[in-house]
Amino acid sequence: IRKFNIDVRLVVADLPARAKITFLNGHAGYYACGNCLLEGSQCLRHRHILYTWSDYSQAQPHIRTQENIDSCAAYAELSGKKSYGVHQSSPLSQIISIPHQCVYDYFHLVYEGYMVMLLKEWKLLLKQVNIHYIDNLLNDVRYPHSFHRKPKDFNSFTQWKAGDLRTFFLYLALPLIIRLQPALSNKIVYHFSLLLISVRTLRHFRRRHEINNMKKFIHEYLKIFPSIYGRCRELLSTHILVHLPEQCIRHGGLSFHSMFTFESQLHCLRKMGHGSKSLSKQIAFWYTINKRLDTNNEYSIDLLTKQQLRYDIFFDENIRILHQQIYCHTVASRVYTSFDLLLSSLFYYYHCFINHSYHCLVFDMCASNYYSQKQNILSRKQYQSSQMSTYRSRVTTNDTVYSLY
Ligand SMILES: [Zn+2]
Ligand SMILES: [Zn+2]
Repeated sequence: IRKFNIDVRLVVADLPARAKITFLNGHAGYYACGNCLLEGSQCLRHRHILYTWSDYSQAQPHIRTQENIDSCAAYAELSGKKSYGVHQSSPLSQIISIPHQCVYDYFHLVYEGYMVMLLKEWKLLLKQVNIHYIDNLLNDVRYPHSFHRKPKDFNSFTQWKAGDLRTFFLYLALPLIIRLQPALSNKIVYHFSLLLISVRTLRHFRRRHEINNMKKFIHEYLKIFPSIYGRCRELLSTHILVHLPEQCIRHGGLSFHSMFTFESQLHCLRKMGHGSKSLSKQIAFWYTINKRLDTNNEYSIDLLTKQQLRYDIFFDENIRILHQQIYCHTVASRVYTSFDLLLSSLFYYYHCFINHSYHCLVFDMCASNYYSQKQNILSRKQYQSSQMSTYRSRVTTNDTVYSLY
């Protein structure tokens, strides 16, 4: 028997699954936060439990620790009553610290929760003419080739996939609501910008001190929140934002421990299990079989030579031709004496390496310009032509082709 040592870095789940595996109260109950001991208060009108910013800032609740969870679980098991939202001891407590390592998933929280809620609220304030305007704008957006999800038809946003919501939240929402003024107020724009800046920074940051700056943005966002969307929207999912900076200090950017990638795989995995017995065993068996069968599905040389795959709105064909000429002239004529014989292999090399690396170069120049609209094309082309002249001068002053990269 072989033994494997496994280190569990963290466990990530959406709110209902998280409550189930940790044996803590769900998001609709009291003491549902896994990171602090904020009790929550009941809304007298709807009877739901609210976790308001005013309660949090006034009460300044204690942080929840694993020791606290263990003692509450022991008490709950003895008395048969829940203690601070803890039902019983979770097996997870034996291998991880629940407050530190059972993390919140920003994909469910922000994209599927927040973004949809905000879109519903904004839609109430918009007229049909505004919605037409949004649809036209969404149709006009020119995306980089790596964007597979392109949100369209604002009225059907409830059917948008997580990828659509991500694209919309990160790149489209802010420029869009700025253009929708005065239908959407300055306050809404300012308020959303606080959330956008904090989430964009926390999902991927370069320096760790940037995390601390985001605490101010989140606090300001939560403070203003009830004055725009009402107290009844201050649910657990709103309160949890306050704990995201600490989560990033422990585990890095939100995008590196989100469920975004797992979630799309769930559908495939679900199809591998049948009935209700030994589901994990069935899934493991069929996953292994499928993995074996998939090994023949390799990329062929066609991937790099097919014309349609080279089509990209960010790709400048003139630069490609120039690059090809420089390559053939400089490398082929100097390195290989029998050029004709090696032409096919050179083209393969060209397509595999040079075309690809050059493409990345062009793409990188434009990648920062995600929200690219028609009026930006001129400036982009001007930029590329200036880059072309730079390359030309570098080629004439330096004979080695590698200086190009
Ligand atoms: Zn909390
Ligand atoms: Zn309410």
